[in-house]
Amino acid sequence: MSSALSIALLGASGRMGQAIRACVAREPAAWNIVAEIGRGDDPADAAAANTDAVFIDFSLPDATPAVLRAARALRRPLVLGTTGHDAAARSEIAETAETVPIVFAANFSVGVNTLFWLTRKAAEILGADFDLEVVEVHHRLKKDAPSGTARRLAEILAAARGLSVENDLRHGRAGLVGQRPPGEIGIHAVRGGDVVGEHTVFFAGLGERLELTHRATNRETFAAGALRAARWLRAPDRAPGLYDMEDVLGLKNL
Ligand code: NAD
Repeated sequence: MSSALSIALLGASGRMGQAIRACVAREPAAWNIVAEIGRGDDPADAAAANTDAVFIDFSLPDATPAVLRAARALRRPLVLGTTGHDAAARSEIAETAETVPIVFAANFSVGVNTLFWLTRKAAEILGADFDLEVVEVHHRLKKDAPSGTARRLAEILAAARGLSVENDLRHGRAGLVGQRPPGEIGIHAVRGGDVVGEHTVFFAGLGERLELTHRATNRETFAAGALRAARWLRAPDRAPGLYDMEDVLGLKNL
């Protein structure tokens, strides 16, 4: 019997889907794509025959309700890489995670998850005297803004400083905006060309500024992380729950 991990892939023909297929093609003994699920396909029908398959979804948020229904009905783990969900979709993801294990991450790269950890530590060390700004840069075809990774960075900053993502985020600035209030997290999306993904967190104080930057140069970094998450989800003792890539990498308790 093959020990390859079975994958039911949503968004297989998209940019991320192609990156996952390229990683899988290089290691056929490790991975097996048993279903490629496109727009108009029912994920539950497509994956029903493969009882050990893990769903990996890099498509669009409108595909998420169907893949959540399928994960619940078939009791299959889910790696959810799609970004741009609204609050209602995020709460449906959390509800589904009461039944099956889900890794939901705005960014599957090991480097970005290290950036999350460093951002939390820097915010805690530097304290309230430092102004917080997040800038992200992506290719011209990206549909959502700000990126899910930038939102996650803002959530980490807000949690470390006792601020709220609902009330304290400032998306861009234009016009006579006045002085910058101290309890604000600025967030800015730049779009152009073929940039795979860049994120910088600014900690701007008086007389000094710390910048933490991550640059992705190839989508396969996200694909490799998603495959690693799928393998982690398949562990026999993996309980239902909503996990992220920091759980997969063991960064939560460092
Ligand atoms: P893309 O537009 O190149 O590909 C999306 C694919 O999804 C297309 O093949 C499209 O046909 C398919 N699709 C659309 N609706 C569907 C549906 N209802 N059911 C099944 N398939 C459907 O986009 P992309 O650049 O590959 O990005 C896909 C998603 O992944 C985006 O949300 C993007 O922000 C996100 N992303 C996440 C990470 C991460 O690490 N979490 C990294 C890169 C991209």
